[in-house]
Amino acid sequence: MTKAKKLIAAIKKQWLAERTRCQSCGMPLIYDKNYRPGSIYCSYCHDGESFAQDMSLADMRVRVDSLLQTRHASSLARVYMRMRLATLKRWRRGAVGKKAG
Ligand SMILES: [Zn+2]
Repeated sequence: MTKAKKLIAAIKKQWLAERTRCQSCGMPLIYDKNYRPGSIYCSYCHDGESFAQDMSLADMRVRVDSLLQTRHASSLARVYMRMRLATLKRWRRGAVGKKAG
């Protein structure tokens, strides 16, 4: 593959990962081995009927951040995910499954 083709492939993959994140934890669904087709959540967050854990956005931020730290993610990636989580369906105002308060 040429350099340009490799770059385009990398961008496409990143774009797909960005487009198909779990709408609860933000994990790219292409990395979920047990993903249920059609679901907007990964298999770790939602079993098809309910969320695995009742948690707030603050709880999820702590969980995702500690996960990113164990993976030695860059501080930029951690800041990005902190902001990105609030845009996911589960955490938007009035969303189903959100803990009160
Ligand atoms: Zn998830």
